[in-house]
Amino acid sequence: MDFRDHIRVISDFPKEGISYKDITTLLKNGEIYRASIDALVEKISPWQPDVIVGPEARGFLFGAPVAYALGVGFVPVRKPGKLPAGTIQETYALEYGFDTLEVHADAIQPGARVVLVDDLLATGGTMLATANLMKKIGADVVGMGFLIELTFLNGREKLIDYPVFSLVEY
Ligand code: AMP
Repeated sequence: MDFRDHIRVISDFPKEGISYKDITTLLKNGEIYRASIDALVEKISPWQPDVIVGPEARGFLFGAPVAYALGVGFVPVRKPGKLPAGTIQETYALEYGFDTLEVHADAIQPGARVVLVDDLLATGGTMLATANLMKKIGADVVGMGFLIELTFLNGREKLIDYPVFSLVEY
């Protein structure tokens, strides 16, 4: 199955020059959505994670069902101000400016085997920041899985310290 047949590509969204990969067309198809989760689970299962971690918002759509299928916990990583209890933070550079991600400080046991899941690997900034959050918590990032990878942005170079897979490439 080629998941690309179910991903809608929109030119010049959200700004000129960006080729946006719209996964809502995949999500609304129950058979294909389930197949994409099954494919992620097949790759992630051998890593034997204790917990799946996903950054908001689309990381939830893929990470949480993977966690459910494996019978492990899911931990959300969020933009600042969304999580109610004590958090740790990681700030990272964007093309213009900075962004911050947060996780609950007590969300993961030190030494836990963690797999990070997101819909799309572009520059790798989001996942590197998420991995750095895990480092601060003392968790062991044993792998990262993506539905989509934009190979021309070389995100993997940033994530060189981690095993990375994606289901489809552009
Ligand atoms: P990055 O931190 O550069 O790897 O960007 C990752 C996040 O940005 C992903 O979680 C995507 O949701 C979003 N993203 C980046 N580029 C695109 C794109 N071309 N189409 C859709 N989403 C994108």
